Parts: sequence; C-alpha cells; structure tokens
Amino acid sequence: PIASSTISARGLSRYFGNRVAVREINLELKHGEILGFLGPNGAGKTTTMRMLTGNLAPSAGSVEICGIDLLDRPRDAKARIGYLPEIPPLYRELTVNEYLQLAARLHRVNNAKIRFALDSVVQRCGLNDTGKRLIGSLSKGYQQRVGIAQAIIHDPDVIILDEPTVGLDPNQIREIRTLIRELGTERSVILSTHLLPEVESVCDRVQIMHKGSTVFSDSVNGLKQKGISLEEIFMQFT
Ligand code: ATP
Repeated sequence: PIASSTISARGLSRYFGNRVAVREINLELKHGEILGFLGPNGAGKTTTMRMLTGNLAPSAGSVEICGIDLLDRPRDAKARIGYLPEIPPLYRELTVNEYLQLAARLHRVNNAKIRFALDSVVQRCGLNDTGKRLIGSLSKGYQQRVGIAQAIIHDPDVIILDEPTVGLDPNQIREIRTLIRELGTERSVILSTHLLPEVESVCDRVQIMHKGSTVFSDSVNGLKQKGISLEEIFMQFT
C-alpha cells in the first residue's frame, strides 16, 4: 500500500455457499478522499462494506486500515473505522446525548475524552440543541446526522457509509451530502449509493460495482475534464 493510504483492500471476495457476492475487489484510499461505490441492488456494495469494517469475514483477500491488518489485529484496525450501516443502529427511546455516550463507550473512547468527543460530533453534525430529544422524535434527516455522529465519535480515519441518503427528502439529502463532503476533507470516506448524482456531487473517485465485481474505477473530476459521462459508463453495466 502507498504510504499515505488510510484503507486498502486486496482481492477481497465473499461467497455465500457457491454463490459469489463479491469477487476480488481492490481499493485504496488516501486521507481526504471520498470514494463512491456505485451499483444497483445486489451488486455487492453492502457485502463489501461489511468486510471492510470487520463485520463479515471475507472468503479471500485482505484489508489494511492505516497500515493495520484488519484480520490480524481487528481491534486496533476497527478503532480507525467508523461505520453507518444501511439500517442505522439507533435506539429510538434514548436521547441523542444518551445514545452518543453509549456509542462513545462502545467505541472505547477514553472516559476523560467523552465530553470532548460528544461536543465535537454534536458541533460537526449540526446536532446542537437536540441533545435532550428522543431519537425517535427526530426527523429522518436528523436521525441520519445522529447515525453519522456515532460513526465518527471515536475520531476514525476512515468512515464507511452505506446508502446514507436513502429515504430522505431533497432538503435532507442536500444537507447530508454537504456534511459528508465536509467530513471528507478531514478523513477518508467510502459511501455506497445507487444514485449517480450522489457520486457526482459528493465523491472524488468512483468505483462501479456490478454482480460482485468492480467494472470501472476512476477519478470523478478526471472524467468531467475528459468530457466522459459517468451516466453512459454506468448504463453499460446496468
Ligand atoms: P443493496 O443495495 O440491495 O444493499 P448491494 O449492492 O449492497 O445491494 P449486497 O447486499 O452486498 O448487494 O448483496 C450482493 C449479493 O450477495 C446479492 O446477490 C445477495 O443476495 C447476496 N447476499 C448478501 N448477503 C447474503 C447472505 N447473508 N446470504 C446469502 N446471500 C447473500
């Protein structure tokens, strides 16, 4: 892996029985890069993200987070990753504060640093004044901010977001995309989506997934400069 890479995967594959869900995925991301995993339902995005976050064992291949092998040293590697699954792990009956404190403990944030960690994610995710509200009473857009806040509470180098704007209204989508872009200046972000505009407005690089394989990978700006339409490329595979 290149020196400054925060996450890299080599030959990552996953079979379910004799069915291939993900086939030999490679990826490498630097600090401050946002990678979009673009692909239709069933392309293998979620399976890949679960392997990248140490939530699913790969059938083959390896993952390194900040130079730490995820399979050899899962605890150390996972400390550098934040994950927002497709269905956020939210507890509707907790207040935002209670939930984020719980998330901080689960991520083993040092007791002395919890206050600071909470304050900074609340600030970062625009959750000021929501601390005492029940999560179940928040709009979907705010719930998603809380989901992102739990993913960054331990100040990880890499954030992995699975379809972070699904089910949100256009305003909420705009706000969440802005937040992701801001987060991407400070860390590496991988986000999965089936929405082309999401990749075009948020991501620096795109990796198109189809039937478990990477079928295309390039810089989003590079494509724009070359006048190549991502839509045409995407259409070839879907
Ligand atoms: P979606 O947008 O629907 O989440 P995806 O691109 O994330 O799609 P995956 O959920 O990774 O796709 O699924 C890839 C393939 O692996 C699909 O064919 C799916 O049916 C299969 N698959 C995923 N998880 C399992 C499992 N636990 N057992 C069996 N097959 C699975």
